[in-house]
Amino acid sequence: MAEALFERLCLIGPGLIGSSIARLAKERGDIARTLVVTAKTERTLERVRELGFADVVEADAARAVEGCDGVILCVPVGAYREVMVRIAPHLAPGCVLSDVGSTKGSVLRDLLPLLPAGVHLVPAHPMAGTEYSGPDAGFSTLFQGRWCILTPPPGTDPDAIEKVSELWRRAGSQLERMDAATHDRVVAIVSHLPHLIAFTICSTADDLAQETPEGVFRFAASGFRDFTRIAASDVAMWRDVFLNNREALLEMLARFTEDAAALGRAVRRGEVEFIEDRIERGRKIRRSLIEMKQA
Ligand code: NAP
Repeated sequence: MAEALFERLCLIGPGLIGSSIARLAKERGDIARTLVVTAKTERTLERVRELGFADVVEADAARAVEGCDGVILCVPVGAYREVMVRIAPHLAPGCVLSDVGSTKGSVLRDLLPLLPAGVHLVPAHPMAGTEYSGPDAGFSTLFQGRWCILTPPPGTDPDAIEKVSELWRRAGSQLERMDAATHDRVVAIVSHLPHLIAFTICSTADDLAQETPEGVFRFAASGFRDFTRIAASDVAMWRDVFLNNREALLEMLARFTEDAAALGRAVRRGEVEFIEDRIERGRKIRRSLIEMKQA
């Protein structure tokens, strides 16, 4: 078996993503010699003890990171600053601090100013997930065949980047590197806007359901059902994603609104070619995702 990447790795926030990393580490044995897990609530800590994927379960985040050579933040991005204020004075020199957050400009904004000298920040975003959350939701194969985007700030220690890269390779992910601003624009269109649309469609249908006694949801077609799956996602996580990728999300929403209006106009005017072109583009994208095994 390969040498363990980290002597003592601390995961802060054993939810869907954190507990998936923990299960992977436990299963493989070559990610961390000792795995420490900390969470916010006693209920989650108790559940982590029952599930048995951590070597050490510690209620106090500051104590949890002490003596660790790796720490991964797996909490909603809106909680980063508060957690960093708590742990920063306890991070050991040489420690690699990473995360899994869905927004990356906010990570630099919230973590860099508090980063102690000698601690290496290597932000990461595994592009994998489900609509479920909490320590029971994770599974070790979640990251298999999925992308993981690293956004290390300029000047980051190459050895620290390599350590985090190797962790994600061992998770079965494909790696990509980009700057935080590019990351935030990319995920705004492929992830954040689709969620915003899903939440909105459900609210609009819910409003309509109040007005339509025959019922709307009883006849939910597969198109609507697919949106409800996305819309079942965690409230705190998505609230934080929207607020922490505000600029890029609003830009994509403005572009989408213009394009949706154009399609609506084509429908009103009966512009067959325009309508067919839009549908064909959608079909093409779906086919290419299937070919790239990302569907
Ligand atoms: P999750 O299942 O809801 O778990 C969140 C975890 O964070 C819980 O263990 C929770 O502890 C802890 N936590 C919440 N607020 C905290 C605070 N103020 N201080 C300390 N711990 C706190 O969330 P998730 O889906 O795994 O998402 C975690 C991160 O991964 C987020 O940053 C998200 O943007 C990113 N991400 C998510 C997905 C996805 O599809 N879900 C995909 C890629 C990346 P308690 O249970 O004790 O409250």
